[in-house]
Amino acid sequence: MKMQSNIRDVILRNKITQYLLEDEVVMNWSILKKCMLMLILGSAIHLIWIVWKAAIILSPDLWQWVNLPLVKSQLWTNIVFFVLLIALIWPCYAWKNSHKVQKILPYLAVGIFVISLCRDGYLVGVMSPATMISYVSLVTVGLVLFTRKIVYSMLIPATIFLAISMYFSLRGDIAYAPLFQPDAYGYKNSFWLFSMIFFILPILLTCLALFEILLSQWRHREQLIQKLSQVDPLTNLFNRRSINQCLEQLDSAQKSNYALVLLDLDHFKRINDQYGHNKGDETLILVSDILSQHLRGSDVVGRFGGEEFILVLQNSNLEQSVHVAERCRKAIEEIELFSDDGRQIYVTASFGIAISSPELRPQQLLSHADQALYAAKAGGRNRVKSYQPQQILPDAI
Ligand code: GH3
Ligand code: MG
Ligand code: MG
Repeated sequence: MKMQSNIRDVILRNKITQYLLEDEVVMNWSILKKCMLMLILGSAIHLIWIVWKAAIILSPDLWQWVNLPLVKSQLWTNIVFFVLLIALIWPCYAWKNSHKVQKILPYLAVGIFVISLCRDGYLVGVMSPATMISYVSLVTVGLVLFTRKIVYSMLIPATIFLAISMYFSLRGDIAYAPLFQPDAYGYKNSFWLFSMIFFILPILLTCLALFEILLSQWRHREQLIQKLSQVDPLTNLFNRRSINQCLEQLDSAQKSNYALVLLDLDHFKRINDQYGHNKGDETLILVSDILSQHLRGSDVVGRFGGEEFILVLQNSNLEQSVHVAERCRKAIEEIELFSDDGRQIYVTASFGIAISSPELRPQQLLSHADQALYAAKAGGRNRVKSYQPQQILPDAI
């Protein structure tokens, strides 16, 4: 199967685990590193506000649309928040390994960021597109980046604040969007419209980019995890589950032109006992490499159990399968492996072959291959046997 060569190319088990733990994946960042990202974005938002307010103060033409004293005073508030958010980056970095700080600082950082946003949200109008879009975008990205506990502990009070200020604005107790002149907000007003676009675009684009990065990393990770679940971590061959899936696929596609070869290393326990488990592992890796090298791209090789492997040979009759199995057997026999003290380790394997036929289910075919393997063991090991329907099994190996 093509799946075999593709996956072998893509996956090196170490690479996968490395990737999953990698620091480049934003979701794997430590909480304080995520906070630093949020603080940078938060201060960038305040910078946008500062630019907007400074531009108004410097343009007398625009004064008619805004509450100028409030713009001036709020400019300073934005500067204070900007400095505060920037300043918080330092403790996030300095105490990145402190567990205590990791527990407290995220709440503090996210809290200050949310308070500053709520304030600005109220000032430009609770129901304005800028407030609404920022709310939705930041909650979405926040939920992906941070734990639910952090997000909801900020989201709920923020929402209550926005709802209450909305209620009092409606009652006329407090001004709605006090930063603008009462008749200066609405879609017909180009100043208001441009202001909204100016506020919305950077937040929307940043959140979209961040969300896109997070989602693509997520998808990538999902694919890797899926592939990881298909391969055996020691040999990097397909594991038993994948082989069973492959056989089910062949069965449902009603394919009956393939052969199953089960092979089992001979006296493998002795290798473990005499040379150690690590040598045993090394042997398994060597054998799996040899098997992969000796098969066509369309064939599948998997680790079926401890020291047992399985080959699924596509478009193969008995003669061709025996030929392939013999080739593999000889290659295994020729393995040059030495113990740490220089003794040669002899490795051999026994092979059992079963040929598919339309009336056979995969499990029956496996059982045939297993019986053939049993016969190969019984016949003296280091040999290839094919399934014989009336095989008489010897009493003992
Ligand atoms: P036979 O020729 O009859 O197959 O004898 P054998 O010794 O190969 O078979 P047995 O079933 O007695 O022993 C298999 C051994 O394979 C026992 C187990 O410790 C070892 N084994 C299974 N999985 C691994 C593994 O991942 N690494 C190593 N090093 N050894 C393994
Ligand atoms: Mg064995
Ligand atoms: Mg075995």
